[in-house]
Amino acid sequence: MNLVLLLESDRVAGPRFALEGARAKHVLDVLRLGVGGRFRVGLLGGGQGEAVLVEISERALVIECQLEEEVEARVPTDLLLAIPRPKSLKKLLPEVAALGVDQLHLFRSWRVDPAYLEVKLLERELYEPLLHLGLMQARSTQSPAVEVHPLFRPFVEDRLPSLMRPTTRAFVAHPAAEARVADLTLGAEEHVMLAVGPEGGFLPYEIDRLSERGFLPVSMGARPLRVETACVALLAQISLLRQRA
Ligand code: SAM
Repeated sequence: MNLVLLLESDRVAGPRFALEGARAKHVLDVLRLGVGGRFRVGLLGGGQGEAVLVEISERALVIECQLEEEVEARVPTDLLLAIPRPKSLKKLLPEVAALGVDQLHLFRSWRVDPAYLEVKLLERELYEPLLHLGLMQARSTQSPAVEVHPLFRPFVEDRLPSLMRPTTRAFVAHPAAEARVADLTLGAEEHVMLAVGPEGGFLPYEIDRLSERGFLPVSMGARPLRVETACVALLAQISLLRQRA
């Protein structure tokens, strides 16, 4: 944990927050702090700063925080991800939050197993803590907003147009695509939408529907990577393209 993430629900009063569970254990066992010890904190969706440990009880730690008013900018990248198998999703959520994604749209495509839509991990109480782990790793307070879309066509035809901005650069990752991610240029602040397919890949029909909406098929090379590897590699390459702008 490079930052201890605070939630509004942890607030006791004013600058005082109570920490329980894994975060309290981290402060005591990993940072090895006692009363008076200082460490880095950030309020979910808000500023970062320093906390002082003021009280240790059996139930919780009480900390007093000084948070900066300035809030980091959200990364202007939205990830549209065909719902992966639960094991992959569990690994991927912290990585997505750590790499920086503004909106995460989990959608069903033809090769998504319908059973994946029923998994508990698609419920906020279960996916949020995994996103928070990624934020604490990457020292960020900006969590991706998550939406789940149970049907491909309504998602593409009805929801996508309202998510796209006039200047959005939209890409669909596809190993067989002619255009290469490596050849793209991207402005640091440009809004990007990136669609990633399921383990079995997109159907040609799905690639066509996304292309009609302005998504350019792009490849990182002919090797089809596992979904969790592909997402991390693609987000890292987009970040690199932004940095080179
Ligand atoms: N046999 C499938 C195919 O060729 O599409 C493999 C699918 S891959 C396991 C899952 C998803 O990860 C793909 O739909 C694509 O979005 C992304 N992906 C994996 N490797 C990629 C690559 N080399 N270039 C671009 N996207 C890739």
